[in-house]
Amino acid sequence: MPLTLFNTLGRELQVLEPREAGRIGFYGCGPTVYNYAHIGNLRAYVTHDILTRTLRRRGYEVTHVMNITDVGHLSGDNDEGDDKMVKSAEERGKSVLEVAKFYTDAFFNDTERMNILRPTVVCKATEHVGDMIALIKKIEAAGFTYSAGGNLYFDISKFPSYGELALLRLDEKKAVSRTEVDKNKRNPQDFVLWFTRSKFGNQALVWDSPWGRGYPGWHIECSAMSIKYLGEQFDIHAGGIDHVPIHHTNEIAQSEAATGKKPWVRYWVHNEFLVLDKGKMSKSAGGFLTLQSLIDKGYDALDYRYFLLGGHYRSQLQFSWDSLEGAKNARKSLSDRIRALAERSAAAGPAETPGGKAPDAVYAGKAGTYLAAFDKALEDDLSTPRALAELWGLLRDAEVNPAEALLAAFDMDRVLGLNLAEAAEARPAEDQGLVQEIEALIAERAAAKKAKDFARADGIRSSLKERGIILEDSPVGTTWRRN
Ligand code: AMP
Ligand code: ZN
Repeated sequence: MPLTLFNTLGRELQVLEPREAGRIGFYGCGPTVYNYAHIGNLRAYVTHDILTRTLRRRGYEVTHVMNITDVGHLSGDNDEGDDKMVKSAEERGKSVLEVAKFYTDAFFNDTERMNILRPTVVCKATEHVGDMIALIKKIEAAGFTYSAGGNLYFDISKFPSYGELALLRLDEKKAVSRTEVDKNKRNPQDFVLWFTRSKFGNQALVWDSPWGRGYPGWHIECSAMSIKYLGEQFDIHAGGIDHVPIHHTNEIAQSEAATGKKPWVRYWVHNEFLVLDKGKMSKSAGGFLTLQSLIDKGYDALDYRYFLLGGHYRSQLQFSWDSLEGAKNARKSLSDRIRALAERSAAAGPAETPGGKAPDAVYAGKAGTYLAAFDKALEDDLSTPRALAELWGLLRDAEVNPAEALLAAFDMDRVLGLNLAEAAEARPAEDQGLVQEIEALIAERAAAKKAKDFARADGIRSSLKERGIILEDSPVGTTWRRN
């Protein structure tokens, strides 16, 4: 079955057809490293992660590129406001590069804890200014720019399909800026490709360019770096829904203007927002939740991952402590079931290697039906809620052979990323005592049986059953499992 994705460009579900058979070039907008990522940002990266993992599970060779914005992102997307990096550095009394390094490390620490796979290429804007200048030169040579007040602007009137992604109508191509209007702009939606000192005298990082000493606009970095690593046309570009009207709209305009090739990107994937108390969560508004703040309250990073997977990426998701608690409990019982399965399958004889690629025969039974339904859910525009429901169905179904169920669950986890294999091996600390107790009772029961004290033997079996522990006798001895 093919994979369908909702393409923002055209607003419809479309079957994914890569430009090159078997390969996918995927660019996801990365963080602006002036502060910690908030948990809303992490929703965007989990979405990218699920997409990459799903594609890889389907056998595609995915090149996933992510930028690190360490220069040029103003507090408004439309060239207005302060420079986020400069402001943060001033507030912290550090250099811009120190701030960038600190928050880049913090970002990858968060993504690692959330089991988000590291992209194939991570590229910093400050290390690619030469590529940006080269791209701007092409845009200029193609006649899409003008200079005003020391900055170089992209002239949207020269690009007739401007706003296609955002479905902007011509009469809507009016002022979008809420805070300030840049008087240099011929059209309010024109945007800066290159700033010179004229805009920010205090800019710490500046480069020489044909337009003067200065620094690049935010949008150009994503065009320059994606083209550098994925080519002038590639398959998928992703980011949060907020990027549709300005950032991605501008990326398309300048990339297609520079190369003359259309479409620059075939599929645009946008995640909806995580919202707090029906409000927007944003870094610039202050008072946001970080992954560490969840961990400090006793949650595991994977509890939050599980919580996110419970919502479809294209639906707004409301964060609450209650739902996070629900996710924590669900993940705990998921781990318990996986552990019980591991014990049962170990007791049943030598199993396949956990986490390894299962031979097809393993899935000839009912486990294969669940796995197929799981894949189908992801094929349907990455429906993680339905995929999770299939995992639960598999684990709850007593008719599935435990070893097969375990292997199918591990296969599902290649996409879900919930570290189920670890859960199978790990035994919570309090369990160690329980295991010893059960084993002692099994030995006592065997001795009772030998002594023909069947009342005692049956008593042990039923008292364990009341505690959710089932004993299973076989010619080679007695094993136990959780009910
Ligand atoms: P930024 O670091 O602000 O550039 O944002 C990083 C990513 O997070 C972008 O793809 C944004 O669109 C996305 N994003 C920002 N806020 C949220 C939110 N509340 N929920 C989901 N995604 C978000
Ligand atoms: Zn971007």
